[in-house]
Amino acid sequence: MKRIALDSSFIEWKNYIAETGEKSFRAKQIFTALNRGLDFSEMTEISKTFRDKLGEDFYAQSAKIIKTLKSADGTEKFLFSLYDNNVVEGVLMKYKYGYTLCVSTQVGCRMNCAFCASGLHGLVRNLSRGEILGEIIAVNRYLGGDIGNKRKIINVVLMGSGEPLDNYAETVGFLRLVSEPDGINISQRNISLSTCGLVPQMYKLAEEGVSVNLTVSLHSPFDEERKRIMPVAKSYSIREILDACAYYFEKTGRRYIFEYVLIKGENDTERHAEGLIGLLKGRPCHINLIRLNEVKERNLKGGTEKEAYRFLGLLVKGGLSATLRRKMGEDIDGACGQLRQRYIEENEN
Ligand code: SAH
Repeated sequence: MKRIALDSSFIEWKNYIAETGEKSFRAKQIFTALNRGLDFSEMTEISKTFRDKLGEDFYAQSAKIIKTLKSADGTEKFLFSLYDNNVVEGVLMKYKYGYTLCVSTQVGCRMNCAFCASGLHGLVRNLSRGEILGEIIAVNRYLGGDIGNKRKIINVVLMGSGEPLDNYAETVGFLRLVSEPDGINISQRNISLSTCGLVPQMYKLAEEGVSVNLTVSLHSPFDEERKRIMPVAKSYSIREILDACAYYFEKTGRRYIFEYVLIKGENDTERHAEGLIGLLKGRPCHINLIRLNEVKERNLKGGTEKEAYRFLGLLVKGGLSATLRRKMGEDIDGACGQLRQRYIEENEN
């Protein structure tokens, strides 16, 4: 079966090259070329015969950009096609210090959060480590970037479609590949992993020896109400999530972040602000408020910017470290799963 070239680490390429009888320096040549985003046909320093063999055994470009959409605010959205014609999306955000790319870890999602477009059709399949990496490699090349110090993408967030910890092995494999010294070499410290709160996998991640930033989607300080917004809350309580976060901090020394999507009338009242303060005050954490990007298939409303700032003010006054995330890419369906959803609709007609 044809394999995904970017799934393999440098060591694995070394072993493969040894088996083929090719010169050992080919391993590094191929590994770096793949991380630059090249197809085998572009690796002209390799003999045509060997390039053809590689092309028969492997897919070089695991995520191909098939559509881009640019927002008025500079945010750019990408639709990637995978080897089996499934599509996933990514979002590129430009900040003062450089680019941040948000990538998907699954085609679809099993979590079915009430506000999110990704779970509308359930989970189709997991992405492999090399497919997650492939999204970054493709956009980095699109931006004119190279590997190592010449990369254009500085930060990565695993906040696109999918639940990274529901695809645990491939996500952790990806974290190791993306920081390989001879690859694109993005430091794990510049990567944030966002989870809806799969508690056992959070503990496992703390033991993994990867130093990523942990982000947890909270969306309510009350278990009963959280269950309405996030079905996964039926499996794990907020208390269990906070204990897992504390353990992550103890093991890694890294402060954790809570994401909180403001949904009008559902989780943005004074009572909710007080609940959050009671829950989180004194913990080494930060709260990122996000205004809802309304998804037409989901019957939930977002509030105004003024209301969001008011909620933020309550949290800060209560002693929490919190910020309101700049709303980006609203005009291009910037939120998780929205672009894929449009694509599916268009192709059904
Ligand atoms: N499954 C992971 C990662 C994907 S969601 C998780 O749950 O964290 C990543 C972030 O995008 C979450 O904080 C989520 O709340 C937010 N998000 C998803 N859909 C959104 C929407 N329609 N509007 C605003 N934020 C959204």
